[in-house]
Amino acid sequence: MGLVHVMVGLPIALASVTAPARVEIETPEPPTPVVIDSQRVLVYELHITSFARTPLELRHIEVFGRPALPLATYRDSALAALLEPVGGMHEPAHDPARLEPGRRVVAYLWVPLPRHGAVPDTLVDRVVFSPADSAAAPNDETVAEAAVAVRHTEAAVLSPPLPEGIWLAGGGPSNVSPHRRALAALGGRTYIAQRFAVDWMLIGPNGDTHQVDATRNESYWGFDQPVLAVADGEVTEVVDSIPDHAPHVLPGAVTLANIAGNHVILRIGAHRYVVYGHLEHGSVRVRPGERVRRGQTIAKLGDSGQTTAPHLHLHVADGNSVLGAEGVPWVLRSYEDLGSGNTFELNAHPDIPRSLALPGESEVVRWGRGRP
Ligand SMILES: [Zn+2]
Repeated sequence: MGLVHVMVGLPIALASVTAPARVEIETPEPPTPVVIDSQRVLVYELHITSFARTPLELRHIEVFGRPALPLATYRDSALAALLEPVGGMHEPAHDPARLEPGRRVVAYLWVPLPRHGAVPDTLVDRVVFSPADSAAAPNDETVAEAAVAVRHTEAAVLSPPLPEGIWLAGGGPSNVSPHRRALAALGGRTYIAQRFAVDWMLIGPNGDTHQVDATRNESYWGFDQPVLAVADGEVTEVVDSIPDHAPHVLPGAVTLANIAGNHVILRIGAHRYVVYGHLEHGSVRVRPGERVRRGQTIAKLGDSGQTTAPHLHLHVADGNSVLGAEGVPWVLRSYEDLGSGNTFELNAHPDIPRSLALPGESEVVRWGRGRP
């Protein structure tokens, strides 16, 4: 009788279920809600590794919040924009959606949510493939689904890391910023410490980040500005011995030891470490183990390490390491959004108050004026 049941059931199953894809999908960090200006997004990555014997083509990725709530679908150019093969593109014409046997591609997700709606507890990512070579049947789709719990812990709330003024959030949070995709393999696993990093540059009275002579650090309005503790905390790492270099002159050999230049790491809570990078040589005023207060000057903005011009690199990670920890979200208590740096004009810009949010990539913001 068992055989009869199988024979009856089989055609129905084949008609309604797509075959499983021979891939592994890992989510190293849980989807994390973060507010960028007025938009809430869920940020995470899917590491997709092929165990198939022939090349696969990623067709689309669908994201659901349970129960069966479609949040986003990515296909064609929108899908390609999410994908980066591990090790980079091997040839200029490489299709990022093509996955060779044994290879891994990372899908960088940045899923918009309503600012004030509920955040789902679980996401389901449905990834659909077809055979990559046209000789095989292109409609022979296979699918992999991965469910993962959303991280609901609160973002760290920071005070400004620099004095009152108008600041450019260079490389600030977006799904395509260089920081967002700075995936590093260290100590046997991968990390994106800089997932929510910002490179802060001061805008001066000429409406630019520097004066005419862009070859001198002193021409940059931000150079030598005080760098401030963003919260009460304890200093956990200090490097202060690396010379500053001239703008657009990269240091000879970039290593793990000097990539961030002179830097301070400040522990502000459980699994919350603020990394300040590229500080001015000899400017660090704090020592490991020292307690600091919010707003206290800890160093000065410099041009050390892997930089092209003076700026303060700032991010928050879950461990005491510049690159060997996972970047976690943070927000500024308050700031004014003055629009995009690409179109910014000193005398004609929007002025939008924001609170408990992060500025987006290349946004110009102002803080201070008596507020924390
Ligand atoms: Zn940076």
